[in-house]
Amino acid sequence: MSERDVRDALEATGVAVRGAGDEDEVAGVRPRWVALPESAEEIAAVMRVCAAHDLAAVATGGGTKLHWGAPPRRCDVLVDLCCMNRVMEHAAGDLVVRAQAGVTVEALARALAEEGQELALDVPVPGTTVGGLLATGVAGPRRFRHGTARDLLIGVTVVLADGTIARSGGKVVKNVAGYDLGKLFTGSYGTLGIIADATFRLHPLPAARAWVTATVERPVTVTVEPYVYEGKTLETTSTGVAASLHAAIPAITESPLEPSAVEVDWPDVEGPCTVAVLVEGAAAAERAKALCGLMGETAEVTEEPPPWWGLLPEPPAPDRPPGGTTNGGTGSEGTTSGVAGEGTGSTGGGEILLEVRNIPYRLAGSFVGPFEAAREAGVRASVRGSLAASVLHVALPPDTEPGRVAAFTSQLRDHMETDGEGRVVVLAVPPEAGRRLDRWGHVGALRLMQRVKERFDPDRRLSPGRFPGGI
Ligand SMILES: Cc1cc2nc3c(=O)[nH]c(=O)nc-3n(C[C@H](O)[C@H](O)[C@H](O)COP(=O)(O)OP(=O)(O)OC[C@H]3O[C@@H](n4cnc5c(N)ncnc54)[C@H](O)[C@@H]3O)c2cc1C
Repeated sequence: MSERDVRDALEATGVAVRGAGDEDEVAGVRPRWVALPESAEEIAAVMRVCAAHDLAAVATGGGTKLHWGAPPRRCDVLVDLCCMNRVMEHAAGDLVVRAQAGVTVEALARALAEEGQELALDVPVPGTTVGGLLATGVAGPRRFRHGTARDLLIGVTVVLADGTIARSGGKVVKNVAGYDLGKLFTGSYGTLGIIADATFRLHPLPAARAWVTATVERPVTVTVEPYVYEGKTLETTSTGVAASLHAAIPAITESPLEPSAVEVDWPDVEGPCTVAVLVEGAAAAERAKALCGLMGETAEVTEEPPPWWGLLPEPPAPDRPPGGTTNGGTGSEGTTSGVAGEGTGSTGGGEILLEVRNIPYRLAGSFVGPFEAAREAGVRASVRGSLAASVLHVALPPDTEPGRVAAFTSQLRDHMETDGEGRVVVLAVPPEAGRRLDRWGHVGALRLMQRVKERFDPDRRLSPGRFPGGI
């Protein structure tokens, strides 16, 4: 069948279709067409044409993180959900909202704020959509208190590879019965189906918020000690995490003062870091003051978040001396660091970003790992993220030589994954470096994930190859 015939088939669905351009590339792979459906039924019509003509489809929301994950093995149709941008139902009395996947999280927040409510997820990149938020499994600082998208999701409507529309909690579709679609689709990177809409549990907007910030001058210290072996004196090094952090973090997270988030900004792993704690709700200022006592002499309370709060890390600036400033000292002054098109957090241009997960009591590993790996690989690294939930993001300068990116990743895994507890995932990396490393590391549930993929998308037409094991 000719190119023209396929396009005619797509257009016969009644869905707006256009030819794709450079700006529609998915991690460097250019689709042939862009389809702009306006409803779940229209997505289904597009997917049926894809099934009939063996076309591969990738969904997109705001396009802010389309370069994350491995490039798709093929991509014929980009299913752009920008027209599906309606808040369908806000049952304020029940603290529930249902929104189409293409609604931006900002637009949703505005609508909810009118009723004094919020979706308690922090989404730092303007333009992020509900669908993209779920598909990438994102959660910011308040995941510590409110959980992640998975926890706040009540239901989803998805369109499967064959055009079937399935709703979790509602109509049971024969071939998906037994699966919790919401949980399955959160973090699936578009590989199982296309999210059409989602229903979330909401929270009342807190009456007040306060932040406590404190600086730790040398979070990681290296001590050289003499060591005698077979009569010879050798030198060994030991690395430690500042005693103040070791004591403060567990004390804060377990405190009855109930912080909502405990975050760190460490703009250069050779230098100081800032720890910031969020307190929300009744008597926030008083509770924040009480937390100061746990955070040392540099602690101070503010009513505004630090400029880096809830944003992805920016890499250390090339001209900055090691051990540079904290608090937005990564070139993000003015809170613009996460704005689409600015900084490396959202442009995709050469972004090198890793996600490190640890178990909360391995605080030392979360600091020592990036520090040691950066030294061993000879790179500069910045770290930002959630100490309370032990999910940190690490950024390297975009011009880091590909071999060093691979070396850093492997060193970091050596430090973090030794006992199978920590995980290091390369979220974004330029193509050449991407070819030299394993993005996902060891994925214990890979066989199970592959079986789920087989069940949902046996012909591998949905974002093929984006996920571990070629899923
Ligand atoms: C503290 C902090 C944490 C952050 N954490 C993360 C994080 O952990 N992960 C993260 O991604 N971002 C994170 N962000 C960035 C931001 O939230 C992402 O930009 C956002 O998730 C992408 O949304 P989008 O609408 O632009 O999706 P897009 O960039 O358009 O798409 C992202 C992915 O989702 C798929 N997709 C999009 N819409 C759908 C749909 N309707 N159905 C099926 N698949 C779809 C796409 O194919 C693609 O694989 C974080 C920022 C910070 C710092």
